[in-house]
Amino acid sequence: MGVEGLTLVGARGAPVVEPFAARHLIAGAWQGSADGATFERLSPAHGVLVTRAAKGGAAETEAAIAAARAAFDDGRWSERSGKERATLLLRVADLIDRERERIARIETLEAGKPIAQARAEIEGAADLWRYAAALARTVAGDSHNSLGPDMLGLVLKEPIGVVSIICPWNFPFLIASQKLPFALAAGCAAVVKPSEMTPSTTVILGELLVEAGLPAGVVNIVLGYGQPVGAIMTTDPRVDMVTFTGSTAVGKGIVAAAAPTLKKVSLELGGKNPQVLFPDADLDAAVDAIVFGVYFNAGECCNSGSRIIVHEDIAEAVTERVVALSRKVTFGDPLDEATKVGAIVSPEHRAKIDAYVRGAVAAGAILRLGGAPLEVPGLGGQFYQPTVVAGVTPDMAIAREEVFGPVLSVLTFRTMEEAIALTNAAAYGLSAGVWSANVHTCLEFARRARAGTVWTNSWMDGFAEMPFGGMKESGQGRELGRYGLEEFLEVKTVQMRIGRTRAPWVAPSAAG
Ligand code: NAD
Repeated sequence: MGVEGLTLVGARGAPVVEPFAARHLIAGAWQGSADGATFERLSPAHGVLVTRAAKGGAAETEAAIAAARAAFDDGRWSERSGKERATLLLRVADLIDRERERIARIETLEAGKPIAQARAEIEGAADLWRYAAALARTVAGDSHNSLGPDMLGLVLKEPIGVVSIICPWNFPFLIASQKLPFALAAGCAAVVKPSEMTPSTTVILGELLVEAGLPAGVVNIVLGYGQPVGAIMTTDPRVDMVTFTGSTAVGKGIVAAAAPTLKKVSLELGGKNPQVLFPDADLDAAVDAIVFGVYFNAGECCNSGSRIIVHEDIAEAVTERVVALSRKVTFGDPLDEATKVGAIVSPEHRAKIDAYVRGAVAAGAILRLGGAPLEVPGLGGQFYQPTVVAGVTPDMAIAREEVFGPVLSVLTFRTMEEAIALTNAAAYGLSAGVWSANVHTCLEFARRARAGTVWTNSWMDGFAEMPFGGMKESGQGRELGRYGLEEFLEVKTVQMRIGRTRAPWVAPSAAG
């Protein structure tokens, strides 16, 4: 359905696409599945076939894990110097720049995200490879020279080993790049599984790794579904660590699956991220950030600013301004440079978004804008209207659960205590924001919010240098920054006796 007053970007028809043929990369060789199984991906915006991919089974997954294990154990990468690792990662970054347009277009076709945004993500991903290259030359532990004259203590940092990397569909290339270059900088070997919805750009990354000269078997890519590929990647005893980005439900299952072999598990999961507005905030900037926060990537974003908590005195004015600005956001064909918001990833997901909105209205919330599927002229795919729901109370599902769509919930508060209580009421703790001209208000909020990232007078800035991750049910562990490297490092303690100075435990003269 269309809706009066929105800004839509239509299309003259579906694009002509030569479907991408995606295969597994195992021990340096590109291959289909042993049983010949494949799966297909249609563009969520246009409904055309864009990818035909090999569908991995147990045979491919186990072969990939065996290849990674062998590559790690024989030291073909783990024993390379930091300088050599950095040189290769920098080469990969240059190749990503070279292929930016190709990667961005496929990302847009598979995920439904706007082409201009996809391009920026690929550029950001190249920056992560460069940052990880810098980190590769900083892997170092500690020395302890004050344990006494007869002892020297060393703390060595070693690569953790074989890492399973499991990625979601919403930022396929960027999220793979938040993990893989850091694992490689540490000296690990990896098995990577992209989402079944967005396999192709990870395959292109594999091509670039081969071209850059990464030794065979260090990075293996298996395409397919959670069952059986993801499940084997989280249970096989030859895997030392699992790093997963995706839903909290699957993340909890992975912790349980990895427990019998005690793998390290790092998780980047969902969020229910609030922006809190105090009356002294710069409302022009705040309203723009609210609209950006909720509609970016069609709301299919772990960092989606899916709820705002607004002081009662300004709640109505803010809501009106958010609705007015929402109407100006360009929704439509993701291949058009003018589009800011593209398609919803699947029909099932659009139905889930719609159900949240209907449930909120049935529970007494008030629809101020949108609230239904959106038809974009000339496009057959699935879209959803920019949606603003006011009168939301903390007990409603839409206030607590991750909608993962272009849907904003508006809640109100009177005091700082109430704002903090509402912020921390969610089971999630990924990110939060505060808007106020008063630095004391901002700092108090930043200290008391239970969230891995807090923005003050801003939303969703990200830097390679700044760690990212969640508290509570938003995850465990951190990506990016130095912490992003540390995740993939094991600590070894070496205690060296200098000279033969230790008093014997058993005096030789006492023997016999
Ligand atoms: P998902 O959990 O459905 O799938 C993620 C990946 O896990 C896919 O590759 C999938 O095939 C795989 N998988 C599914 N079942 C599995 C199993 N039993 N064992 C192992 N792997 C399995 O998530 P999604 O729908 O692809 O992504 C959306 C979710 O990701 C949202 O909840 C979002 O908040 C979250 N996300 C979080 C971050 C973050 O950094 N915190 C970033 C992006 C997305």
